[in-house]
Amino acid sequence: TNILNLSLADEQQTLALGSKLAQSFGAATIIFLHGDLGAGKTTLSRGVVQGLGHQGKVKSPTYTLVEPYQVGGWQVYHFDLYRLADPEELEYMGIRDYFTPDSLCLVEWPERGHGMLPAADMDITLQYEGERRVARIEANTPVGIALLEKLSA
Ligand code: ADP
Ligand code: MG
Repeated sequence: TNILNLSLADEQQTLALGSKLAQSFGAATIIFLHGDLGAGKTTLSRGVVQGLGHQGKVKSPTYTLVEPYQVGGWQVYHFDLYRLADPEELEYMGIRDYFTPDSLCLVEWPERGHGMLPAADMDITLQYEGERRVARIEANTPVGIALLEKLSA
């Protein structure tokens, strides 16, 4: 199957999922992160970037739209498109230059960039479940399916 549901009891478990993703990348990957404000999208991204070996802070790119990292042999781009007024703005950012054959792209609020973003290998939707969160992970491409298989192993 191409869908995995995980229950995340606390922030640590969300960070651990990010770390597991970090250990599992085998090719350039695009992951869309869905969910309401506070659902844990940035926390999961932090888990990925730190899991790849980044020692410093991972701050939310709310105002910068994208935060780049070079870590673990990857070029990582962490996007937060929440404040994007118009998908066309991505054109001026040179959006195509980010989605390269050696980059890992994590995109919060991809809906705001509708029509301007390449297709995602994986969609992760985070939802509130009381104090916990539930992650619904869906793989859309061979790259996404390979990643999902490593996550469920
Ligand atoms: P988003 O980027 O989706 O707006 P953040 O990751 O910035 O969300 O914030 C998530 C908030 O929810 C943090 O304050 C975090 O401590 C809290 N939290 C509680 N439980 C969890 C969980 N299981 N996973 C992630 N964050 C959690
Ligand atoms: Mg966020």
